[in-house]
Amino acid sequence: MEKTRDESWLSRSLGVFRYTRQAVELVWSTSKPLTIAFASLTLIAGLLPAAMAVVGKQIIDGVLLASETGALADRSTAMMWVAAEGALVISMAGIQRGIQVCESLLRLQLGHKVNVLILEKALTLRLPHFEDSEVYDQMTRARREASSRPLSLVRRAFGLIQNAIAMATYGAILIGFSWLSVLILAIAAVPPFIAETRFAGQGFRLFRWKSPAYREQAYLETVIAREDYAKEVMLLSIGPELVRRYRQIFDDLYGEDRSLTIRRGAWGFVLGILSRGALYGTYAWIAYATISGRISLGEMTMYLLVFKQGQSAFAAMLTGVGGMYEDNLYLSNLYEFLELPTDATLGGASVGPTPADGIRFQGVSFTYPGATEAALTDIDLHIRPGDKLALVGHNGSGKTTLIKLLTRLYTPDTGLILLDGLALSGWDEAALRQRIGVIFQDFVRYQFTVGENIGVGDARHLQDTEMWSDAATKGMSAPFIEKMPDGYSTRLGRWFKDGRELSGGQWQKVALSRAFMRQDARVMVLDEPTSAMDAEAEAEIFERVRSLTSEQMAILISHRFSTVRMADHIVVLEDGRIVESGDHDALLAAEGRYARLFSLQAAGYQ
Ligand code: ADP
Repeated sequence: MEKTRDESWLSRSLGVFRYTRQAVELVWSTSKPLTIAFASLTLIAGLLPAAMAVVGKQIIDGVLLASETGALADRSTAMMWVAAEGALVISMAGIQRGIQVCESLLRLQLGHKVNVLILEKALTLRLPHFEDSEVYDQMTRARREASSRPLSLVRRAFGLIQNAIAMATYGAILIGFSWLSVLILAIAAVPPFIAETRFAGQGFRLFRWKSPAYREQAYLETVIAREDYAKEVMLLSIGPELVRRYRQIFDDLYGEDRSLTIRRGAWGFVLGILSRGALYGTYAWIAYATISGRISLGEMTMYLLVFKQGQSAFAAMLTGVGGMYEDNLYLSNLYEFLELPTDATLGGASVGPTPADGIRFQGVSFTYPGATEAALTDIDLHIRPGDKLALVGHNGSGKTTLIKLLTRLYTPDTGLILLDGLALSGWDEAALRQRIGVIFQDFVRYQFTVGENIGVGDARHLQDTEMWSDAATKGMSAPFIEKMPDGYSTRLGRWFKDGRELSGGQWQKVALSRAFMRQDARVMVLDEPTSAMDAEAEAEIFERVRSLTSEQMAILISHRFSTVRMADHIVVLEDGRIVESGDHDALLAAEGRYARLFSLQAAGYQ
């Protein structure tokens, strides 16, 4: 029993090293010349210290000999060795600088590359991933650390090789003194290594545990420091409370960090004493051997130097392994995120078999992940080409959810949604997106130029100025855009220099114009993007949507019955179910929910 647990612990611990290969590949693919330069310099740096120790011995013995004999030849030999040592010292300094330069350049490139990898992965995620706090934490953690970790891992791997080479050369020299000294050298470095690995594991678990708290801190920073929150934060005077929470989070986390740091330091000190004891024991031994005349003064200096350096090289090797373990743990998080499975079962069709069929919902039900109640239940709905449909219902009745399912942001739990006779899952993602133009009530206010804010409606024509003004005219934003100082090139929002802010209703007109960019969409969905406009403007917008080509379908969500009544077909949702449907007159005649809601609103206007 115990044995299997040990084995699994061991294989887990070793398994984590598998990311070393991926890190090396990542660095290699970032810049081959830099990686080669980095590796070669590291290897040379491994050979030089031993050479310096040998030359050091030659200097001392040479100086002693020359001072004894006083011969010119002996003097010049000694001086030649001094010159050789000087050359080695200069080369070492040059190589260390070179390593630093390679490392700094690689770090810049690698950080950028990893961030791009993370962003590109984020583009392939589905909406539910973004709403899953674990995935979100994983992404935040990956962004926070992973850009420095691959380089650190590679640097440590190379450092390991460098120290191993140095060790081999030291060992070869030390064996000349005694094999026992080589053994002492090796054993003394083991305890610090064990401590290092243990604390690396604990540090990583702490880091994982802390990431939701870090995210909350980041959120508080946003709320306090962002322009679109500032107004409310100021007026509600909640600023001090938010800062208090921010401090509280730090204080809670700091306690854990402090305890780990102190324990790490204390253990490092105790275990360090052991290694130092071994070092000075051997020192005494070498000194004694010199006094008793067994080795020369030059040899003593060399052995002492080599032993000392050998010990730090060995310790560096072992802590390097500990550090690699730690880097691997962090990288495991990055790769877990990058390897997160995304829907692979998507179809590839770009046309449906029966375009005359339009959109069909067949027995569609859906519950949000983690929710207890269904957001939609048994939805059956048919929208024919050319149909202009209005969705009506209280807040939370499922209107937006229906649109999210139609746009395949979510997949129904049961039932089927078909476009042109083909299930949504059979469609190629890009082809499907091309056919559906949607503006949600919480559309994005990009801090780009007003023209680009419209252009994003169709990424293929993002910079097409003619289409901008055409769409702006249809979406009723053209009149105020043309009055702005730089017309379509006016930057919106306040984040960047010379940005202009729009009113809520003006933003909605920009968003509507965005929807009109999709001229070839099969269906256009407007999810309450007109709520901040006056009733007249909303009616006019809907009139324009109605006059789209006879083939185009439109779905409108609105709380204004003056607009809703103009739709060909009205569907009333309640608690995720369709409770009534028909045109305005039929629904009034039925004297059901629609009729009641309609008369309530009409009464308000009398
Ligand atoms: P409507 O658009 O009619 O106001 P929604 O479709 O947005 O309503 O919401 C329907 C129900 O689903 C509500 O009960 C709401 O709380 C829930 N809901 C909406 N979005 C989410 C989400 N992302 N995760 C979990 N539940 C959600």
